[in-house]
Amino acid sequence: EGKQLTRIGLAGLAVMGQNLALNIAEKGFPISVYNRTTSKVDETVERAKKEGDLPLFGFRDPESFVNSIQKPRVIIMLVKAGAPVDETIKTLSAYMEKGDCIIDGGNEWYENTERREKAMAELGLLYLGMGVSGGEEGARHGPSLMPGGSFEAYKYIEDILLKVAAQVPDSGPCVTYVSKGGSGNFVKMIHNGIEYGDMQLIAEAYDVLKSVGKLTNEELQNVFTEWNKGELLSFLIEITADIFGIKDDKGDGYLVDKVLDKTGMKGTGKWTVQQAADLSVAAPTIEERVEAAKVFKSGGFGVQSNQAVDKQKLIDDVRQALYASKICSYAQGMNLIRAKSIEKGWDLKLGELARIWKGGCIIRAVFLDRIKKAYDRNADLANLLVDPEFAKEIVDRQSAWRRVVCLAINSGISTPGMSSSLAYFDSYRRERLPANLVQAQRDYFGAHTYERIDMEGSFHTEWFKIA
Ligand code: NAP
Repeated sequence: EGKQLTRIGLAGLAVMGQNLALNIAEKGFPISVYNRTTSKVDETVERAKKEGDLPLFGFRDPESFVNSIQKPRVIIMLVKAGAPVDETIKTLSAYMEKGDCIIDGGNEWYENTERREKAMAELGLLYLGMGVSGGEEGARHGPSLMPGGSFEAYKYIEDILLKVAAQVPDSGPCVTYVSKGGSGNFVKMIHNGIEYGDMQLIAEAYDVLKSVGKLTNEELQNVFTEWNKGELLSFLIEITADIFGIKDDKGDGYLVDKVLDKTGMKGTGKWTVQQAADLSVAAPTIEERVEAAKVFKSGGFGVQSNQAVDKQKLIDDVRQALYASKICSYAQGMNLIRAKSIEKGWDLKLGELARIWKGGCIIRAVFLDRIKKAYDRNADLANLLVDPEFAKEIVDRQSAWRRVVCLAINSGISTPGMSSSLAYFDSYRRERLPANLVQAQRDYFGAHTYERIDMEGSFHTEWFKIA
């Protein structure tokens, strides 16, 4: 009826969807929005008015929503992963036409995206799986975006993504075409795994400083504020410093001490650990917070903290242990991506991924620039640990790192992330591991065969006959 059509549509107006839609509108792209529960449509339209009369248009039924978008139509979905995505696709695709495109911006399992991409192709529709990182704030003011799937579809909305993504000076917008298929979702999943690894390592550093070093929240805040000025400069270190300064508004003391020591987890953390096993890439740092502390407590074995410690030295050692562990954690994450890229023929550019994580997302840090540079030096780097600069950094921090892990062990404090990072490093740098004995055992009881160090081929020995 001669109505102005919008450039793009967004379906799913919970936290992420609302904020991303407002961000897109603010960058000057007229957007149509839709949500199954219509009250969220009104809410979003209301916010668009309040936040500067943004060109955002709400629709209460899917048909008029789809028809309000210019062709070829592009619709971003931000709904719960799994069945809700299938249902939303079904609802929307009924009104879409050949050449139109659906983008899943949620944390979806990458194989679901590949399945849907194939099903969409049969209808003549294009499909993208796009990781969106940075939470609510990121979505509203500049997330890190990891789109994968149809390159044609990516090209069609590249101008929008380049403006909507976080902008990092000297490094550009935090978005890149990742690769085909479910690569965008896969990379986002590993990003989340790395994020949980970072959080765990920071929590362990906190535990050692608090339980062994007896640092108060005030001192912890100062330490983290100091750390955030150097090599550890990052969003997570910054918010950690903030957290130590926040007083409890419902009682005495600090809020952090009142928070129950139980973490939530949705999907990506568990998937990352499963992928590490499937791809035979060890990823022991990237895991959900362990429950070890509870066992210590219930066993009546308290923290042995009566040893004399030099506070300043401890703080310095913990900083170095944290940094060295972080290198191992990222090395493992990048190698998971590398292994999947080889398996799927995605030809992923690891340095480019480090670049788009420099802004917008939770793991943003100066450190990522160093990772990008390592891959610039050698795109085929087998492991971050063997990059000459990272290798030197690790070697320089080795003694401090070992001291912290020993101190934690002697004090009865579990530091699974730091300890397993150190174990990862120690395994990685050893020419020969005792796996020869494990393989000999397997061949002994199960005739699984073994290879030899001195000749080609596969061998089997009837060990029990000789023994
Ligand atoms: P969410 O809580 O994961 O999902 C809520 C949205 O899904 C609502 O719009 C809801 O519609 C819709 N929905 C649920 N079941 C549905 C169904 N059967 N059919 C149609 N719609 C359905 O929302 P979110 O936290 O904004 O996250 C959206 C996606 O982004 C998720 O995949 C999430 O993992 C990912 N993500 C989240 C964050 C974050 O910080 N929250 C960060 C990065 C990525 P109704 O209102 O009608 O129920």
